[in-house]
Amino acid sequence: MLGQMMTSALTIQSLVDHAARYHAETEVYSVNTGGGVEETTWGQVGANSHRLGHALTKLGLEPQARCGTIAWNNRRHLEIYFGVSGAGLVCHTINPRLFPEQLIYIINHADDKVLFIDATFVPLVAAIRDKLPNLKHIVLMEGRDEKAAAAIEELVFYDELIAECDASFEWPDFDENTASSLCYTSGTTGNPKGVLYSHRSTVLHALASNLTDCIGYSALDVVLPVVPMFHVNAWGTPYACAMTGARMVMPGPGLDGASLVALIDTYKVTTALGVPTIWLGLLGEAEKAESKLASLTRTVIGGSACPPSMITAFREKYNVDTIHAWGMTEMSPLGSSNQPLAKHLDLPIEEQHKLRENQGRPPWGVELKVVDEDGADLPNDAEAQGDLMVRGHWILDSYFLKTRDETLDNGWFHTGDVATLDPDGYLSIKDRSKDIIKSGGEWISSVDLENIAIGHPQLADAAVIGATHEKWDERPILIAVAADGYSPSETDVLAIFEGKIAKWQIPDCVVFTDVLPRNATGKVLKRNLREEFGNVLMG
Ligand code: ADP
Repeated sequence: MLGQMMTSALTIQSLVDHAARYHAETEVYSVNTGGGVEETTWGQVGANSHRLGHALTKLGLEPQARCGTIAWNNRRHLEIYFGVSGAGLVCHTINPRLFPEQLIYIINHADDKVLFIDATFVPLVAAIRDKLPNLKHIVLMEGRDEKAAAAIEELVFYDELIAECDASFEWPDFDENTASSLCYTSGTTGNPKGVLYSHRSTVLHALASNLTDCIGYSALDVVLPVVPMFHVNAWGTPYACAMTGARMVMPGPGLDGASLVALIDTYKVTTALGVPTIWLGLLGEAEKAESKLASLTRTVIGGSACPPSMITAFREKYNVDTIHAWGMTEMSPLGSSNQPLAKHLDLPIEEQHKLRENQGRPPWGVELKVVDEDGADLPNDAEAQGDLMVRGHWILDSYFLKTRDETLDNGWFHTGDVATLDPDGYLSIKDRSKDIIKSGGEWISSVDLENIAIGHPQLADAAVIGATHEKWDERPILIAVAADGYSPSETDVLAIFEGKIAKWQIPDCVVFTDVLPRNATGKVLKRNLREEFGNVLMG
């Protein structure tokens, strides 16, 4: 017997329609690419999404045609998220920090027919235009701009494109499993791979991230997604905020500490999300500007391990709670977030703080397990380290244009991370499996060492790699960037490890450098560091 309840497709457009109807006056602030802040509302974003859906329909695109974006976090990008997917097309967000060859590969592989770009990226796109044979329409996310028009022949202008279109345009009907958006992994090795999200997976992900014990946005929040919209859909913030009618602050191109502090203080941001490197800049700047970040109640930090010293700084200096989260492009991205359990509240406060440092536990909808090299399940005892596997409602089934067999292992997705799980499902990421240091048959977590090193007051940044060693195969070495105005000695830096880890895990040496190489999503390029420094122990 079937249940006798109404069903309707779980669609992305239903989110913006909800926001536009029930939170019409709720503010969306958006930093323009050319400077200045525009104040708009969910009502206007909703109306423009319909207009854009109408405009795209008039272009006569095939259902599920890919529409690329190379853009900052701003109001028009938000409208594109909803308007493109709502019209039954696929919103393909592209990371502008990729090399031109990777951009060309991705745009052609995705078979993008439309490309929406911010003014910043006009030169970038003009330079590769002749390598994009399938692209039919390029839309500048602005009003008319003659200079840009001169650079790209067929350029049209977003504001003109939607001006004549209908805010009461009706979305087409389609199945909730229809593709909605596409994002490529950063592809540090080999070509980037596409992850094709569906309406259903995106809505379920938004619902789960709105659970109180996950992130739980509220209509009382002012949310600043510093994480870019070209990086796993800004971790789903646009969808989850539309679902709850949270106010949003879209930071545009200025992601430096000073700009972020100003946005937080001006718009009374309550919740901000981003990768650890962003917050390093912000914490430094808040101190300089003597800002108390008074409105901020929490930060959501993920993408790389969040150093415990950062969580402490937010808590002790600013009274801000950090939700440490873990995920991947292949997971929409949310896989876990660190929130306490009732039983933790009886523990001494120091222990409670310690428990907030790891990557947290999965929400409903995600299952995690760790396995050994033969694929056998390992115990969830916080000790056994193994390959982390995942499955769930918003985890990919197969890469774009690839098969399930090429993607999954017995229905589970291999994350490529090495981790432990505890009996409550709290996850502790030790490393990417290719980065873990294998010293004389023992494993050393570079993440654990980095977390300690970054707590050194005279270091601005730190990474640990395995360097080739005659006797032990590999030994950890620390690549360190001194904080402005300091030049700590090697002995002084290594002293910070004493008493915090076993002696044999302490790095063999410290190499000082000016800046760590990072990929397009802000992750340290360990491969480059290994190439440069991997032989320093070989004499
Ligand atoms: P994202 O784009 O969300 O950063 P990617 O697919 O580029 O996702 O990278 C995912 C990888 O980033 C994970 O497999 C993991 O190695 C790393 N990562 C993400 N969040 C964390 C975290 N909180 N702690 C440690 N590593 C993390």
